[in-house]
Amino acid sequence: MNSAVNTLSPQQFHGAVLEWFDQHGRKDLPWQKEKTAYNTWVSEIMLQQTQVATVIPYYQRFMERFPDVEALADAEIDDVLHLWTGLGYYARARNLHKAARIVSRDFGGQFPDSVEGLEGLPGIGRSTAGAILSISTGKPAAILDGNVKRVLARFYAVEGWPGQPAVMKRLWALAERNTPTARAGEYTQAMMDLGATLCTRSKPSCLLCPLQQECKAFALGLTASLPSPRPKKTLPVKQTHMLIIRDSSDQILLAQRPPSGIWGGLWSLPEVQDLRDAPSELGIDILNADAMEPVRHTFSHYHLDITPVQITLKNPTNSVMEGPATLWYNTRQPQNIGLAAPVKRLLETLASDSHKGGKR
Ligand code: SF4
Repeated sequence: MNSAVNTLSPQQFHGAVLEWFDQHGRKDLPWQKEKTAYNTWVSEIMLQQTQVATVIPYYQRFMERFPDVEALADAEIDDVLHLWTGLGYYARARNLHKAARIVSRDFGGQFPDSVEGLEGLPGIGRSTAGAILSISTGKPAAILDGNVKRVLARFYAVEGWPGQPAVMKRLWALAERNTPTARAGEYTQAMMDLGATLCTRSKPSCLLCPLQQECKAFALGLTASLPSPRPKKTLPVKQTHMLIIRDSSDQILLAQRPPSGIWGGLWSLPEVQDLRDAPSELGIDILNADAMEPVRHTFSHYHLDITPVQITLKNPTNSVMEGPATLWYNTRQPQNIGLAAPVKRLLETLASDSHKGGKR
């Protein structure tokens, strides 16, 4: 790890960043209009692993439906997951809902006003807690999200994958060191903006950067190699078949996933690993099975190759699979339910095919 110290003092560092923010920072994002702890929290959770442009419409729909923490706490999880469909990483939505219930029940609807208190809520890590606290109250609290990690790793030429504890510790120390006591919320926003708009993953705009004169990665030509990437591992591939079973009204059978695990609590198509097991596993009599083109869905730890199969039942009135965790989905009038992302795409394709009078 390169530990040589840059010559900028913390005051010069945050001074340069804030001066740049005053001129170039983003100040009109929907969650910046009223910087309450609730608004900041929802936006920060949505922005994890997701670009600002993608988040904006989701955030607006979410706020319309759940304008405050009490509204979210009172909601059914299915309503929350429905508004999250397409954003991915659904554990975020489940944690948001759980945390809203805790804030409502245990804290009288008020968010804790310390990093430690916020970190005690489901789904809020140290960096998100720092962002919520500094943006909504102005109290000094450091953040270290992906953008800030990149800026600091480059500015100080910190080598090593930031997921490693020693590298993470060094970056946190640098983040703490540079956080100002005044204008802490704007500094948080400024560092996020700097990382998102100038110090981008590929081809950073160093010539426009307020930190360029002292940036070690720029001076040493290391911007392309820092931060160091995660050591490579090849993802395993798993296979599944998703069955498209229709009733006489052309509705499609969906089954709800168990509450935890992949797509926890979301609605999906009935699945079998081996198609030959479908009659015994699902209790159905198949007349014909027509496999469609497989689609690949990649999770952080494996690829899932999904083969959708259009099923014709021997007895279409067969209802053995119906139960509390199943429903018939009408693609022409879709219900408000949370759907697994590849299932949503598949249902949309099936709906557009059937509108065109295509293959069922
Ligand atoms: S000079 Fe370039 S690499 Fe260094 S912090 Fe600025 S944008 Fe990032």
